Amino acid sequence: MTAYSPTIVAIATAAGRGGVGVIRLSGKNLQALAQILSGGKTPRPRQALYTDFVDKEGRAIDNGLMLYFAAPASFTGEDVIELQGHGGPVVMQMLLHRCLELGARLAEPGEFTKRAFLNNKLDLAQAESVADLIDASSQSAARMALRSLKGSFSQHIHTLVDSLINLRMLVEATLDFPEEEIDFLEAANARGKLAHLREELEGVLAQATQGAILREGMNVVLVGAPNVGKSSLLNALAGDDIAIVTDIAGTTRDTVREQITLDGVPIHIVDTAGLRETDDVVEKIGIERSHKALQNADVALVLIDPSEGLNAKTEALLSTIPSNLKKIEVWNKIDLFDMKADILRETAAQQVSKSGANTVIRLSAKQGEGLALLKEELLNIIGWQGESEGLFLARTRHLNALNKAKEELENAAIHGYDNIELLAEHLRLAQEALNEITGEFTADDLLGVIFSRFCIGK
Ligand code: GDP
Ligand code: ZN
Repeated sequence: MTAYSPTIVAIATAAGRGGVGVIRLSGKNLQALAQILSGGKTPRPRQALYTDFVDKEGRAIDNGLMLYFAAPASFTGEDVIELQGHGGPVVMQMLLHRCLELGARLAEPGEFTKRAFLNNKLDLAQAESVADLIDASSQSAARMALRSLKGSFSQHIHTLVDSLINLRMLVEATLDFPEEEIDFLEAANARGKLAHLREELEGVLAQATQGAILREGMNVVLVGAPNVGKSSLLNALAGDDIAIVTDIAGTTRDTVREQITLDGVPIHIVDTAGLRETDDVVEKIGIERSHKALQNADVALVLIDPSEGLNAKTEALLSTIPSNLKKIEVWNKIDLFDMKADILRETAAQQVSKSGANTVIRLSAKQGEGLALLKEELLNIIGWQGESEGLFLARTRHLNALNKAKEELENAAIHGYDNIELLAEHLRLAQEALNEITGEFTADDLLGVIFSRFCIGK
């Protein structure tokens, strides 16, 4: 923490009207401020004080509860005051201005949590989970964010780092005895310890991968010729009417997006405008957006009309899809063709090859048959294994760090006892990667990026 940390203030509750509004302050020695603000009362730590909040002239701006948390037993580790007033925008603004008048400055997004991190109240993975908990888009995501916040993820990392430090001490110690270093490492079973460490890391990586799926979800695009049923499928998946469905080809002029939740996993679905050549200006814009959506997608649902099959038009569409996208071929309108959904899931070995799809699913967007199969396949394709006990929310940043550590441990194993100095160096780099997750030795600019994405008041 810098020597001088000014008092910060923010409205912590959501903007707009509400029964209660909360203003939060953090800084050094806030008792004096609390006394002035309450018109001379002295709040006791962790006790609610019912009081007027008064202006410069001693007139009440509002009344409500004042909560005082004395440093270091507070969220930020500094003195914290929370004012619970009436949640009207004008009252909240007046209270906020009063706090500014008393010397506080407006908090930046995430600044409270950043101070908590800098004062060692939370590590970086925990701090990130504060934002994830607030942003959680499903109950599972919220549960898992809370687990991370409580330190479940960090605990795994600490365990790994502890084992790694033990191994490093062993290896570094042998560097001083070049004569008998290999015997020494053999006797201490350094090889076995490294193998065990790599196994443990694999386990954490697998869990974190699941956690990242739950946090980031999956981007799905619907592609297919006009009238094949893209809007209908989007509506069927979303469970209500958001796209315009008509019999006129080209009605879906704009991309229409919808977020659904499958087994807790957020799925962002974008309906494209058909991706075809057109002179219509409005439609052109839609088509451009569709191409953008494709660039960000993980999975493409390629819709096919069974009466036409995989025709030239659809093949042309397929050629515009980035090749790294996973594809599911969806034969729609099976209700018109007396097809059955349950026998219709085919594997790549069968007929999928032509479109390059991973799977073929046949369904009826209109009647719902086969929809469940499609949902199942979507979760399958992304590798979601279902929420399990102890799972925690993770970010791409965490996965990158874990993969870096994994790579370094691999390198360490390759060197074995051939070159102890390189072995030591790879172990050191592995630890550095793991430490990035919890925020030990994290670059300042990374901290800036992480905390700037918070909302104000957190
Ligand atoms: P889009 O242009 O690809 O978005 O296609 P729409 O979703 O607008 O659907 C075009 C037409 O096909 C509409 O009349 C839909 O009611 C109809 N349709 C869509 N899905 C099905 C289906 O599964 N069965 C039947 N019978 N009709 C469907
Ligand atoms: Zn090497």
